[in-house]
Amino acid sequence: MASVELHNIHKAYGALPVIHDISLAIDDGEFIALVGPSGCGKSTLLRMIAGLEEITDGDVSIGGQVVNAMTPRERNIAMVFQSYALYPHMTVAENMGFNLKLSGETKPMIEQRVNEAARMLDLTKLLDRKPAQLSGGQRQRVAMGRAIVRNPAVFLFDEPLSNLDAKLRVQMRSEIKALHQKVQTTSIYVTHDQIEAMTLADRIVVLNQGRIEQQGTPIELYRQPANLFVAGFIGSPA
Ligand code: ADP
Ligand code: MG
Repeated sequence: MASVELHNIHKAYGALPVIHDISLAIDDGEFIALVGPSGCGKSTLLRMIAGLEEITDGDVSIGGQVVNAMTPRERNIAMVFQSYALYPHMTVAENMGFNLKLSGETKPMIEQRVNEAARMLDLTKLLDRKPAQLSGGQRQRVAMGRAIVRNPAVFLFDEPLSNLDAKLRVQMRSEIKALHQKVQTTSIYVTHDQIEAMTLADRIVVLNQGRIEQQGTPIELYRQPANLFVAGFIGSPA
């Protein structure tokens, strides 16, 4: 686990500025929902924290250390996307353990971590299956399992549930909440679903055109939206 700090982050793709001077401090163990309309810069921000995208200006710190020059692996961050690319020829257990294997962990260690994660995510009975033999929700749980086994300092979620049907989304939402209560890993969760943000987050950060419009607890934003834009997003009257 670790705190995450963004200091005056700017990002431009060529001549197109997309993130304007964002600063944000996230506590160790905190669950942040990052919301805002399509194209406002949510994925760009996550990718800069993960080290998958170059920062134009500013610093990202994890656990008090500036990580701008570190590779994604060195940052010890796990990212869960909406397209959970599992390896089709590997079993669930092999998929979940693959990153540990690449890091040179021993077989008993990998087995232990995979079994632990499988218990947390109710995947124990599915460990020998191939991805094609799983439902959409089960595949998403394997993708989360693959992230958890590495025991990351930070979880980044980029709209992980947006490909699932409504019923499954509700179920997965409670599973993510239960998981965070168990492991308490610092999490940044991008979503355009305000109910997801309201139910999961300790704090919601509303992004608009590359700037922070408002941040606060779900109740604060609901009761006192700073403007119509936030009110429209959180779903309460201004
Ligand atoms: P969101 O995740 O909130 O939908 P993105 O971070 O994907 O927003 O995109 C923010 C802005 O940056 C958009 O205008 C998008 O078109 C632009 N953008 C994203 N990725 C690239 C890229 N690789 N090259 C150029 N422009 C990009
Ligand atoms: Mg996005």
